Amino acid sequence: QNEKISDQEKVENKTPSQPAVFIPVDRSPEIQEARLKLPVLAEEQVIMEAVRENPCVVICGETGSGKTTQVPQFLYEAGYASGSEIIGITEPRRVAAVSMSHRVAKEMNLSTRVVSYQIRYEGNVTSDTKIKFMTDGVLLKEIQKDFLLQRYSVIIIDEAHERSVYTDILIGLLSRIVPLRNKKGMPMKLLVMSATLRVEDFTDNTKLFRTPPPVIKVDARQFPVTIHFNKRTPMEDYTGEVFHKICKIHRMLPPGGILVFLTGQAEVHNLCRKLRKAFPYRKGNTTTDEDEETSETMRKFKKAKQKKTSLPRIDLDNYSALPVDEGDEDREAGIGDEEDEGSDLDIGDDPASIEEKADPSIPLYVLPLYSLLAPEQQAKVFRPSPHGTRACVVATNVAETSLTIPGIKYVVDCGRVKKRFYDRVTGVSSFRVTWTSQASANQRAGRAGRTEPGHCYRLYSSAVFGDFSLFSEAEITRRPVEDLVLQMKDLNIDKVVNFPFPTSPSAEALVAAEQLLVSLGALKEPPRTGRVKEMEQARLSCPITPLGRAMASFPVAPRYAKMLALGRQQDCLPYVIAVVAAMTVREIFEDLDRPACSEDESSKLIQRRARLTQMRRLWAGQGASLLLGDLMVMLGAVGACEFAGCTPKFCEENGLRYKAMVEIRRLRGQLTNAVNAVCPEVGVFVNPKMTPPTEHQVVCLRQIVLAGLGDHLARRVQAEDILDPKWKNGYKTPLLDDPVYIHPTSALFKTLPDFIVYQEIMETTKMYMRGVSAIEAEWIPELLPQYCHFGSPLESPSPWLCSSTGTIKCHRSSTFFRVGWQLPAVEM
Ligand code: ADP
Ligand code: MG
Repeated sequence: QNEKISDQEKVENKTPSQPAVFIPVDRSPEIQEARLKLPVLAEEQVIMEAVRENPCVVICGETGSGKTTQVPQFLYEAGYASGSEIIGITEPRRVAAVSMSHRVAKEMNLSTRVVSYQIRYEGNVTSDTKIKFMTDGVLLKEIQKDFLLQRYSVIIIDEAHERSVYTDILIGLLSRIVPLRNKKGMPMKLLVMSATLRVEDFTDNTKLFRTPPPVIKVDARQFPVTIHFNKRTPMEDYTGEVFHKICKIHRMLPPGGILVFLTGQAEVHNLCRKLRKAFPYRKGNTTTDEDEETSETMRKFKKAKQKKTSLPRIDLDNYSALPVDEGDEDREAGIGDEEDEGSDLDIGDDPASIEEKADPSIPLYVLPLYSLLAPEQQAKVFRPSPHGTRACVVATNVAETSLTIPGIKYVVDCGRVKKRFYDRVTGVSSFRVTWTSQASANQRAGRAGRTEPGHCYRLYSSAVFGDFSLFSEAEITRRPVEDLVLQMKDLNIDKVVNFPFPTSPSAEALVAAEQLLVSLGALKEPPRTGRVKEMEQARLSCPITPLGRAMASFPVAPRYAKMLALGRQQDCLPYVIAVVAAMTVREIFEDLDRPACSEDESSKLIQRRARLTQMRRLWAGQGASLLLGDLMVMLGAVGACEFAGCTPKFCEENGLRYKAMVEIRRLRGQLTNAVNAVCPEVGVFVNPKMTPPTEHQVVCLRQIVLAGLGDHLARRVQAEDILDPKWKNGYKTPLLDDPVYIHPTSALFKTLPDFIVYQEIMETTKMYMRGVSAIEAEWIPELLPQYCHFGSPLESPSPWLCSSTGTIKCHRSSTFFRVGWQLPAVEM
């Protein structure tokens, strides 16, 4: 029934609004045959007709139905790239952008000069490019340069069901750009493609589209999948359970590939290692696949090491040659891919014994699959497994919708997903493993029925499944939005509240974001006088400032971007970059509070803790540098680690997380590039081996930190003010009624300065501030006037944090201005 429409028919079918040309494509017979099996081919005519007649079209179809690979080809053949305009496709994940561009080039028998990709910092786009795959972040940046996207005749937003923040914003923007282009006589089309049928957020949203766009459903060629629930739900060692299940399937069930869903890269590697041990596969009796991959990792490692030792001064280009190159966040513009929270270069042997006595007579061809995996390794999953073996792909949720793996009959689903969580109060984010949604679990199960009837083994009970949320919520609703608001203001979208979000962030979140950005100087301050209603309006539509534009170009949160923007003063930039990189990476130090497993270990742990605490004290330095507090410790750690060549051994000995240090190094390179792009004439060069900052620079750094973290200010409660003993050694913040404390591991735990800024508040037994730096009271009115309520000098001791108004009461007394010696001035 999937008859191919003849080329002649296509030409005849065209209507006047269709581009005049039909561009033939010379495909190989094998490709042609494979294409014809794809359900989307049956809908080609319907899709193209809808595209001709409507500015916007939504296409829904199961993963594997051929949307990503075929729809761009339909458009190409219909002449949408025949003039000077090109076809653009956005993907939320870098993996998909790269691998799909290669696949489509191959299918169309065209070079990668014509079918190209662009991801942040990397791409192969040329002047011949006709079809361009890119990440959503890349297109967003292009809109900043050319709002009408004049290069494009069509934009396809792929994987819209993922509801990534940038995809959502793009749909909102394009809902305005497309009519504008049509009005100007430069017609443009928008296609939104989704793997689920839940598209009401796009179609039934009158803010977005005045007339709902047509939805074309592509039937899935889906065979039945039998779902098997576990009787009980393992809470702790679910990866162990996954291993047992695979062993059972492999030993007892008929041939057919196995696809396993885990939550992150480290889990994937551990399971691969265990499986390869249990069911070894030997290629030509010489090397196993594991050796191959291990040696690949080793090779990269060695290469990186060589670079490090033979080049004492590392220039910026060297960052891209490090093992963790593009970073472990697969999504663009600093929004994390939620599956890969860390790189896993640990290639040591797995000490865990293999309890399962497997019959190793049929080898298992084990392949890992996750975003950061090298493309050559990823490509292996598309090839048939070697004769006489069973394929077993161990994947993160990239295999859920972005990539389709052929030949899968069994799916093993751990039911979990790694997600980024944000704390609304502190803005702190963390990765946590949680249950996935019912929609995701069903997507995963669907992977088993692509070529024949299949089975899905869910390692949780049906009761637990019943408690899953129906759909994963849009990312935009569960994170603070100041970075996003800043990006939109940079696009001159001043009234962010009016923006046609497919799902809008909460009004409070938007207000909070706007306020923070105003106080950071990224947005113009709204007028303080006038009619209430007008002021209210103005408060929510502040335009961006030049400082805000610079900040918007840095791939970090606005508070840190502010620090980077100020960092060039007094030659502080390399230090600011290092501190920002260290603060952006989750926890650079090993957890010293880890409980011991045995008595023997306990004494060793106590020794180790003592040593590491001493090490941190050394890094904190004394006198002036100590006042930079925990940020000085971070700076010291980064500096010391670089001097030692950033080795796993050095990190282990000094209580640093190796992965974190590698990531900091990468980020330093990236941030330096970003700063250089803003101010090319200055051309900062970051030598990884920094010398420690001078006392003068440390003072400047503390001011810069204050300028960025101004809303995270805390004042020590003075002894004479303590009425309740809980306030002993406690600090007052503008927003919290209860005391917060400096964490015992902090460099300033004993110093207890009067005024500090903190990076975050963590609530454990008490509310503890982490990442603490001391600041001087007299800097507050100078550097944070926006938070200050200036009173008369006779009022209470100044500055005073007032929790009823959330402001700082203070007065500009002469004593607050540069007493004694000149402070390095920070231009604001
Ligand atoms: P969708 O976007 O609807 O999920 P795709 O267009 O990504 O579907 O994939 C369609 C088919 O093309 C899949 O079934 C898959 O088998 C095949 N395919 C995709 N990428 C490759 C590749 N790199 N190598 C071989 N086959 C591929
Ligand atoms: Mg797709």
